Amino acid sequence: MRKKLVVGNWKMNLTRAESAACVESVLLLLDKQDQVEVAVCPPFTSLDSVQHLLRKTHVHVGAQDVFWKQSGAFTGQISANMLADLGCSYCIVGHSETRGRFGKLEIGESTVGYFAETDETVNLKIKALLYHNICPILCVGETLAEREAGETDAVIAAQLRAGLDGVDGAEYYNAVVAYEPVWAIGTGKTCDAAEAERVCGMIRGVLAEVFDEEAADNIRVLYGGSVKANNARDLFAGPNVDGGLVGGASLVAQEFAEIVRAGR
Ligand code: PEP
Repeated sequence: MRKKLVVGNWKMNLTRAESAACVESVLLLLDKQDQVEVAVCPPFTSLDSVQHLLRKTHVHVGAQDVFWKQSGAFTGQISANMLADLGCSYCIVGHSETRGRFGKLEIGESTVGYFAETDETVNLKIKALLYHNICPILCVGETLAEREAGETDAVIAAQLRAGLDGVDGAEYYNAVVAYEPVWAIGTGKTCDAAEAERVCGMIRGVLAEVFDEEAADNIRVLYGGSVKANNARDLFAGPNVDGGLVGGASLVAQEFAEIVRAGR
């Protein structure tokens, strides 16, 4: 039986003091039960302080990205080894924003590569995280143009196969995949609950082919994309939707706590 999981992705928001205030409010609002697993992913700068505040609670800490090399001349990067040292349990990988598929930034051609990670880099990151016992949250999802062209399932299957290439099912057994339609992220447009369930079921089918039925049955598949307190219960109701990856709404303690409760 898979346990529901709700993960807050804070993106590039909150200073250390604001991060502390946010987790303290969330902790006050969450029941001390373990029916739904909860994690928050602050920016790198707040990981240490948030981990310190949460270390004796049931709320886990995750990072938003990682670099796959262990150490070396990689200015500005953070390794899985460093995240493990900070006590991170989770790490988001291949978010559409780091894949450069979101089209929100006004950046020139010469700098676009920084935000355009590939399935290959996603795959390297996943392997580095698993090596350090950090649970990857692999994000997959189609753009609006891909959906309109009827390519949703093929795009997602390709992202899964390439991102998980050479990964052992036994190692990915407790890990996570998040279905995040690019057109629903930060836009206020939510995927229809029945369609989110269908795509999450399709993802589970691909996981069974990439690994096996047993691993596919155990891996949690989350939905992400404009999840709010008022739509979370519907979105999480499908048997293949094991919770949510929540962006904007995870910055508001009351809203986030209600989304967690919707996972029950
Ligand atoms: C996200 O960043 O993963 C996300 C789903 O964002 P939002 O909830 O704001 O759409």
